[in-house]
Order: sequence, then C-alpha cells, then structure tokens
Amino acid sequence: MHCPFCNAPDSKVIDSRLAAEGRQIRRRRECVACGDRFTTFESYDVVMPRVIKSNGRNEPFNDEKLRNSLTMALQKRPVSQDQIEATLLDIGQHLRRLGERDVTSRKIGEIVMQALYDLDHVAYVRFASVYRDFQDVDAFKREIEQMGIEQTGIARNVLEKTKLEKTNLEKISKDSQKP
Ligand SMILES: [Zn+2]
Repeated sequence: MHCPFCNAPDSKVIDSRLAAEGRQIRRRRECVACGDRFTTFESYDVVMPRVIKSNGRNEPFNDEKLRNSLTMALQKRPVSQDQIEATLLDIGQHLRRLGERDVTSRKIGEIVMQALYDLDHVAYVRFASVYRDFQDVDAFKREIEQMGIEQTGIARNVLEKTKLEKTNLEKISKDSQKP
C-alpha cells in the first residue's frame, strides 16, 4: 500500500492486532521512505445486499454512510471507535444473514435501531427521532418509558421537539385546507 504522506510504494508492518472483537485486523505500518506511520484495517470481503430506497430506486450498500450516521448518533457518548466498528460489523452480518439480494432502507433502519438500542440508549433515541415517522410518536414514547429513568431528560427533549413539529405540521395542513 502506498504511503499516504509521500506516496512511496513500500511500507513495513510494525504491529498487527485483532480489532472489532476479532473480525478485523489492524496493522500499524511504517513508510520505508519517509518513516511516517499509518494504520490499515483488514476485514472480510463479502457481498452485501443492495438497498432499495423509499423512492423505489436501489443503490449499493454504503458502509461509509452507515458509519457516519452511527457516529453522529453516538456523538459525545461513552462509546469507543472499536465498539462502533463492531456494531457496524454486527449490522453487516445481520443483513447478510437475511439472505436477500436486496433489502429496503426501512428494514436497514430497523436493524440499526436494534443495534443502537443494545449499544447506547441515548444514541438510539437520537437515531430513532430522526428516522421514525411522526405518526409513531406514541409508540416511540412508550419505548422511551420502558427504557427507565436515567435517560428521560434527553428522551423528554426529543419528545417535546417531535410533538412540537407534529403540532406545527398539523396546523400547517389545517391552514392549507381553509378556503
Ligand atoms: Zn512515506
């Protein structure tokens, strides 16, 4: 692999260890030309199902996109990058186990929510509040209540915001029906 700093073609491996619960190898490399160090990751190369979006179009599964939305939901949460990688691999395994050639983005959202629910409740609430339809606000509220007391502050904020947006939407739709 070319050096990311000077583009020299050779580097040597100075450390190699398992990451993401043994489903990834992390290699620390040193460029033989400039001596700078960088890290590479190695993981399985397996075929992922295609994603069918809500508009009916389909696209290849995008690992990077999923990593970004997980990272966003987990901002400032006590979760390590290694845990995020392990969760991404879990989600990937779950998707492949479905054995389908293509999967709806809705189904992927459900799988991601389940994974986040197990990992971090605050991140789950954040992701779900963006992902879930406003119609589900009562079901969402029940889920948050079932989670217990510790995260209710954040959950309440999300709910208030969601309710407010729902009320606004209803008002706009009523106003637009007036003669
Ligand atoms: Zn170099």
